[in-house]
Amino acid sequence: MRLPMKSILSAAVLASLAGIPTADAAQKFITIGTGGVTGVYYAVGGAICRLMNKDYKTTGVRCSTESTGGSVFNVNAIKSGELDFGLSQSDVQYNASNGLKQFAKDGKVSDLRAVFAVHPEPLTVLSRRDAKVEKFEDFAGKRFNVGNPGSGTLASMEELLATMSWTKAKFSLAAELKPDEMGPALCDNKIDGFVYAVGHPSAAIQDPTTACNAKLVPLTGPAVDKLVKEHSYYAYATIPGGMYAGNPEPVQTFGVKATVVTSAKVPDKIVYNLVKTVFENFNDFKKLHPAFAHLDPADMVKNGLSAPLHPGAAKYYKEKGWLK
Ligand code: GLU
Repeated sequence: MRLPMKSILSAAVLASLAGIPTADAAQKFITIGTGGVTGVYYAVGGAICRLMNKDYKTTGVRCSTESTGGSVFNVNAIKSGELDFGLSQSDVQYNASNGLKQFAKDGKVSDLRAVFAVHPEPLTVLSRRDAKVEKFEDFAGKRFNVGNPGSGTLASMEELLATMSWTKAKFSLAAELKPDEMGPALCDNKIDGFVYAVGHPSAAIQDPTTACNAKLVPLTGPAVDKLVKEHSYYAYATIPGGMYAGNPEPVQTFGVKATVVTSAKVPDKIVYNLVKTVFENFNDFKKLHPAFAHLDPADMVKNGLSAPLHPGAAKYYKEKGWLK
């Protein structure tokens, strides 16, 4: 049904009388795809939306988050227009922009645009104490959770396994449980270990370390060295000692960076407003999750980004002098 012009105009007039912005806000709702609720992506999306919704009166944009399967799901949903923004690991962003690995079949996601990078995400391996695992290789022949379909964790894990010349058949079970299911499955002796590419601290790691004294396992060796050497989106990482109950020693591993991505189809103004809101309220943003404590804007606008920067974000970074 088409509305008569008169009622459209009167709706706009009423809206402006009520102080609701109507001007050039063709897109008034944005959705950010995150990850599981026990991860950190969910907190990033929540922090962005919380700040943006405070500015609703000036921007006219309402922000909401969605819990999703993670990086690969988010990139695909941005491509199809189902999501406006999403969190993505730096390796998944690179593979999507270049049509590699998990994106080889469908080709480059040429509309993918970078917004900013967030926290580091070490590949975090956890085991039950009675599984007698000292290093990652000890999981051979055991039940290991490799990550859920659509997650960046699974994508990175597949790259690591290939580099080690392992396949999932090396495990007696390669489970694909979701992040909020991994801890309970570990403590209930349904799996012997899991990996999660996640910021720290994360509830998904906190819960099993307190519930059943789960142990962080180092992830090092020639395959890790090769990956870090060959790909700029990987870096060595350390999970600080004492961050989790029963794990007093620092643990060596490697990892990626969390990034926020969007589509070239999302208007410049929307992206500009989002980055402006985050960086003008940066101290408040950092307080919203302990994994954000060490974030530095100069680093966030450059590192870990391989897709072209969205012009709306670039405009703000240039105004701030962070980009030439
Ligand atoms: N890095 C994970 C993934 O892409 C998600 C981590 C999180 O939700 O914090 O699957």
